[in-house]
Amino acid sequence: MSTFKAPKGTYDLLPPDSAKYLAVREAIAAPLRNSGYGYIETPGFENVELFARGVGESTDIVTKEMYVFETKGGDRLALRPETTAAVLRAVLEANLHKAGNLPVKVWYSGSQYRYERPQKGRYRHFSQVGAEAIGAEDPALDAELIILADQSYRALGLRNFRILLNSLGDKECRPVYRAALQDFLRGLDLDEDTLRRAEINPLRVLDDKRPDVQKKLTDAPLLRDYLCDACKAYHEEVRSLLVAQGVVFEDDTKLVRGLDYYTRTTFEFVHDGLGSQSAVGGGGRYDGLSEMIGGPSLPSVGWALGVDRTVLALEAEGIEPDIPSATSVFAVPLGEEARRILFAKVTELRKNGVAADFSYGGKGLKAAMKAANRSGARYTLVLGERDLAEGVVQLKDMESGEQIAIGVNEIVAELESRLG
Ligand code: AMP
Repeated sequence: MSTFKAPKGTYDLLPPDSAKYLAVREAIAAPLRNSGYGYIETPGFENVELFARGVGESTDIVTKEMYVFETKGGDRLALRPETTAAVLRAVLEANLHKAGNLPVKVWYSGSQYRYERPQKGRYRHFSQVGAEAIGAEDPALDAELIILADQSYRALGLRNFRILLNSLGDKECRPVYRAALQDFLRGLDLDEDTLRRAEINPLRVLDDKRPDVQKKLTDAPLLRDYLCDACKAYHEEVRSLLVAQGVVFEDDTKLVRGLDYYTRTTFEFVHDGLGSQSAVGGGGRYDGLSEMIGGPSLPSVGWALGVDRTVLALEAEGIEPDIPSATSVFAVPLGEEARRILFAKVTELRKNGVAADFSYGGKGLKAAMKAANRSGARYTLVLGERDLAEGVVQLKDMESGEQIAIGVNEIVAELESRLG
């Protein structure tokens, strides 16, 4: 072991488990690609102000969890704690919203960084796949995103997840509710930190995970009772579109989520096998975010699904994602001449799309066959000295154990036909 370890709150993705992470990313991305979302990639760090303004000055993410640093050139940057604000920044900067084709639909996949207290399912470096639909106000778009997330989880085989749905209102009705909630919170016996939060962002107090705080919130006014007619109608339309598509969800009037930019539709995917870190993904509408970061009015909606927790959810349900064996053919040369010949054949197999690997390091037969077994290959090719003299190679079916000699020149055609 080296003297270095992965930093606290991080872990490495190593084969063979890392294949699960790729499978999860792919399962989430596939329905998006199929629905008009184009791939977007932004830097892993941004100007710190983007997140302070975009995510919200009073959120835990901004006040406690950001990795902030100053460059030698004096720029104040932050490793991205989330990607929505960065995507919107990129779209505005490139004027994609002016190309006349709204909504701009994009998806991303990548690392996020939050200085959190690490525990199972909560890391300082984690990975999300996300989707954003920028520049359109249409309940069908909100429904589309929820349906696509649901579809990707189902495609992975997940069943024990629930969709929580709420509306956070808009700039007409939310301030009225905010004031009512603030009045209510001021009358409660809360600790100083929480009272301060109630003054800056009272909705976030509803999100407090502590049971004693939750108990005091039982009679808190509900946003549902304050929604304006436009928000009510919008939310009803989202709900009925989901119902029509057979997507099951639960109305959760206390769902607020940890970021300030959400308006109207808000949702979270929770998995019941994950203990306290049960949220596997979440998102919602963020109609005001563009203006918050200096852009024009661009009503938008999006989500981010956590790759790490989705893998944990698969494990909790005992699901092994369908991962094809990485290697179909494993070649074992015995001797120099055999090495040259089989190396050429392996290269040719690979060019023809057959996944092939090779016994490196001059191993003897026994050690090489062990490596062949470990590779998971269906077929092994063994070329020894006697075979060489006869112009043949031994082809072994690792499943049946059956072994036959075939001509060296038939290797590629034979394996291609066997592997179909
Ligand atoms: P958020 O951006 O906080 O809405 O998070 C969206 C999703 O990202 C969550 O539902 C989690 O699956 C995942 N996530 C957020 N924070 C962490 C973390 N610290 N460690 C692992 N996954 C996380």
